Amino acid sequence: MDKILGECLCGNVKFEVENEFDKFHLCHCKQCQRATGSAHASNLFTRVDNINWLAGADSIKRYDVPNRMISNAFCSECGSGLPYLSLSGKALIIPAGCLNGKPKLSPQNNIFWSQRAEWYDAALLANPVAKFAD
Ligand SMILES: [Zn+2]
Ligand SMILES: [Zn+2]
Repeated sequence: MDKILGECLCGNVKFEVENEFDKFHLCHCKQCQRATGSAHASNLFTRVDNINWLAGADSIKRYDVPNRMISNAFCSECGSGLPYLSLSGKALIIPAGCLNGKPKLSPQNNIFWSQRAEWYDAALLANPVAKFAD
C-alpha cells in the first residue's frame, strides 16, 4: 500500500495516510486566506478512515467558523494546518502542505476564484526563474 507521511512544523503531530484522494481543491475564499495566512488553502479530500495518527493527535486544536461549513485544525504548539473531519462528517480534509510526499491526485481546480487575494494575479505573472532563483 502506497502511504504518505505527514507532520506539522514542530514535529509534534505525525500521521500517515494512504495515497488515495477523491478531490483536490485550491480554495481562494477569504476564510481560507485567513486560516492559512496565505493565498489559498490546498485541500485534499479522502475517506474519513484514511488516517493513522502516529503522534500528537491530542494536541490538535480545531476551529469551526460559526454558521459556515468551514473549519480549521492546527497544531496547538506551532499552528500548522493538519487533517480534520469535515463538518458533514463525510470526508477527511488534509491540507496538502503538511504531507511529506506527493499525492497521486493533482489539484483539480481553483475554487472561490473571484475572492482570490488582490495580489495573487501578480504572483502568477511573475517569472518563476527570475523571481525565485536564490
Ligand atoms: Zn506542531
Ligand atoms: Zn475556502
